[in-house]
Amino acid sequence: MKALVYHGPGKKAWEEKPKPVIIKPTDAIVKILKTTICGTDLHIMKGDLPDVTDGRIIGHEGVGIIDEVGSGVGSFKKGDHVLISCITSCGKCEYCKKGMYSHCTDGGWILGNLIDGCQAEYVRIPHADNSLYPIPAGADEEALVMLSDILPTGFECGVLNGQVKPGDVIAIIGAGPVGMAALLTSQFYTPAEIIVIDVDDNRLAVAKTFGATQTVNSADGTATEKVMKLTGGRGVDVAIEAVGIPATFELCEEIIGAGGHIANIGVHGKSVTLHMETLWSKNITITTRLVDTVTTSMLFKTVQSNKLQPKQLITHRFKLDQVIEAYETFGNAAKEKALKVILEND
Ligand SMILES: [Zn+2]
Ligand SMILES: [Zn+2]
Repeated sequence: MKALVYHGPGKKAWEEKPKPVIIKPTDAIVKILKTTICGTDLHIMKGDLPDVTDGRIIGHEGVGIIDEVGSGVGSFKKGDHVLISCITSCGKCEYCKKGMYSHCTDGGWILGNLIDGCQAEYVRIPHADNSLYPIPAGADEEALVMLSDILPTGFECGVLNGQVKPGDVIAIIGAGPVGMAALLTSQFYTPAEIIVIDVDDNRLAVAKTFGATQTVNSADGTATEKVMKLTGGRGVDVAIEAVGIPATFELCEEIIGAGGHIANIGVHGKSVTLHMETLWSKNITITTRLVDTVTTSMLFKTVQSNKLQPKQLITHRFKLDQVIEAYETFGNAAKEKALKVILEND
C-alpha cells in the first residue's frame, strides 16, 4: 500500500509500505476512505515531537471501512464504516475507567505517533471496540472526519475545562481548526459574547460567520487593551488558548477576569511565564488536558442532527496520493486560506 512516511525533520515521502496486519486479537485493519492533516502533524514534520521516529506513517484522523478484524473484536465486522478516534483506548485500565482515555496504559495518543497512522491506504487500529465508532448508512462522512480529533479537542479541553456557562464572556485565542471547533461547540452553552483573537484577518472573518460576536487582530500587540475595552475593563470569564506559544498563553493571563478559567488546548514546546504577581488574588483556574474523546458519541449525535455543522471547517479537498501537495496547502494556511483539508482515498 501507499502511505505518507516521516523520515526525520523536514523529510517526508509518499511511498510503498507493507499493508498492516492484525497483531493482537483486539486489532482491526481499516481501509481509509477520508483522512486529514492536523496542526500536530506539522509539528511532527518540523521535528518537534522526538518520539516520532524515522519511518513512521503519520496521521490520526479519518473514516474508513473495516477490512479485517481480530478474533477479540466484538462490535465490528468486515465492511462496516467507522470513525477513527485520534485516541486509542482499551476501556479496561484504571485511566480508561475514569474516562481519561488519553492516558490509557495501552493506548492514548499513539496513532501516527508511536504506531503507524491514518495518512495511508490502510491502518491498524488497536483496541478497535473502544477506539472506533460505527457510522450509520447515509451519514456525511466528510463532516465526521472532524470528530476524530478537532471537535472533541476544542470541546473537552476548551469548552468543558473552561466551564463555559450561559451569559459568559469568552475569548478564544487562535482561530485555527481547533479554535474554530471550540467556537462552534461553546455555543451549546449560549455564552453572551465570544471574542475570537488571531493574527489572520481571513480567519477572523470566517470566525464571525461561525458565531464570533467580536474579533480582535492581535498582530499589533494591543489585543489586551482591545479585549479590556470590549469587556468594560473586567476581562473575560473564560479564555481558551488554542495556539500553544508563550505570547498567546500570557495574553490569556492578561485578559482573564476575576473568577475566570484559562483553558489551555495548545501544544506548548516552550515554557511560559506564570504571572502569579497578578493572578494570585483573582480566583483563577488554569486547566490543561489531552483530549480524552469521551464526548465523541455525544458530538456525533449533534452532527447527525445538524445542530453542529463541522463541514464548514473543510476548505480544501485532495486525493490521498496528493498528500504532499495537501501538506503544502495546509502548511501555508494563511496564504491558502486553509482550515481543514480532506484527503480522499478511492
Ligand atoms: Zn490532531
Ligand atoms: Zn485503557
